[in-house]
Amino acid sequence: ERGRWDTILHAGARDAAPETIFDRILRKEIPSTVVHEDAYVLAFRDINPVAPSHVLIIPKVREGLTQLRFATADHAFVLGKMLEAAAKIAADEKLEGFRLVINDGPKGGQEVYHLHMHLIGGRTMKWPPG
Ligand code: 5GP
Repeated sequence: ERGRWDTILHAGARDAAPETIFDRILRKEIPSTVVHEDAYVLAFRDINPVAPSHVLIIPKVREGLTQLRFATADHAFVLGKMLEAAAKIAADEKLEGFRLVINDGPKGGQEVYHLHMHLIGGRTMKWPPG
């Protein structure tokens, strides 16, 4: 599976979707507070936090992943890497509890069309979410 994702990583730009601000953050053209980085994902603090700890975890390559709804088996490896990073960051931040959120589409509250996962913690969460 890693090999399949590596193929995608090195395939060059194949996604006709316009760039987002997250591409500029990935290229470090826009500063962000990075809390985790590896070959597959970047994690940085949300500029408008909704909780004491609010981190965005994004894949480094966006092809087919503007939204979770476009994920296929080809993306399984990097999706796993996002969850692995979330677990590590939650431990690093010493969160007693946390929530992971992926907003998909306008009705899902998505504003940036580069797949990302919110890691939110540091306060007691309510259910159901808004
Ligand atoms: P969405 O609504 O698409 O799920 O989440 C997008 C998130 O990106 C929002 O929580 C918003 O605060 C965050 N965001 C937007 N622009 C920037 C930026 O330039 N820097 C950082 N660190 N976060 C951003």
